[in-house]
Amino acid sequence: MALLIDGKRISAEIKDELKEEVAQLKEQGITGALAVIQVGNDPASSVYVRNKKRACEYIGIDSLSYELPEETSQDELLALIDKLNKEEHVKGILVQLPLPEGIDEDAVIRAISPKKDVDGFHPENVGALMIGQKGYISCTPAGIIQLLKRSDIDIEGKHCVIVGRSNIVGKPMAILMLRENATVTVTHSKTRNLKEICKEADILIVAIGKKEFIDASYVKDGAVVIDVGIHRDENNKLSGDVKFDEVEQLCSAITPVPGGVGPMTIAMLMNNCVEAMRHE
Ligand code: NDP
Repeated sequence: MALLIDGKRISAEIKDELKEEVAQLKEQGITGALAVIQVGNDPASSVYVRNKKRACEYIGIDSLSYELPEETSQDELLALIDKLNKEEHVKGILVQLPLPEGIDEDAVIRAISPKKDVDGFHPENVGALMIGQKGYISCTPAGIIQLLKRSDIDIEGKHCVIVGRSNIVGKPMAILMLRENATVTVTHSKTRNLKEICKEADILIVAIGKKEFIDASYVKDGAVVIDVGIHRDENNKLSGDVKFDEVEQLCSAITPVPGGVGPMTIAMLMNNCVEAMRHE
């Protein structure tokens, strides 16, 4: 039987640790807020924003909510970010993506002060990650490292195959696994022989965005499989990029969807917010 990597339990553990730390920081007079900006009312974004605010409440940091109408201009959004960059109590700024058409996401990300970029998307933080310097790390890949470490899964010397090369998951994941001394292969839509490459993985991390794309024929016996994908069907049932029922039979450990990688993303966002407070 494969080990079920329990992201719900591990994220709760991390949030409890952070809650304690926030209480200690408060005793030293250090407080702070996360500003969450949502433009438009994409239903999936609204769920994520609500969960982020709930997590802030749980660990004891303030959350400021900015729900802007769909027709907000880029200049208006940049002006709000500029104001929040200057507000001392605001330690983290998060702009929920995707943004409505007509707003340049890169310009918005660049406008957030790197010191408050708790999503870890600003080029300065991405660059710091690349060369092993301090900075905020993209939450989903950072969460996956925690899942592996806290499940006692060795990374050093292992062959890690990552499927997907997005800026928020695949690429930072590759750098983090390198940092942990894995041997890393990054694959994408133009990769030839994807199946053969995946079958060589000791640790297979899948972030493609295609429902149940990876079946048992892509997985080596005893591999560790991390499924980043999130797909919601018409009955609101969630599934991932991996065919769980098949793959679970032959791997040594696997993350379920829901309850695997998903909860870790918010836990690591909270970790970055507390990091921002620590560096008062
Ligand atoms: P993107 O769409 O940005 O990237 C998908 C990547 O998969 C691309 O690099 C693409 O390659 C690659 N890809 C697409 N099709 C294939 C294929 N047939 N074979 C090999 N590679 C392929 O997605 P994200 O990284 O943002 O997200 C991936 C999934 O993870 C989504 O389901 C998303 O909802 C989920 N997600 C979950 C999070 C969580 O908290 N659990 C957080 C973020 C994302 P190419 O570059 O060549 O186009």
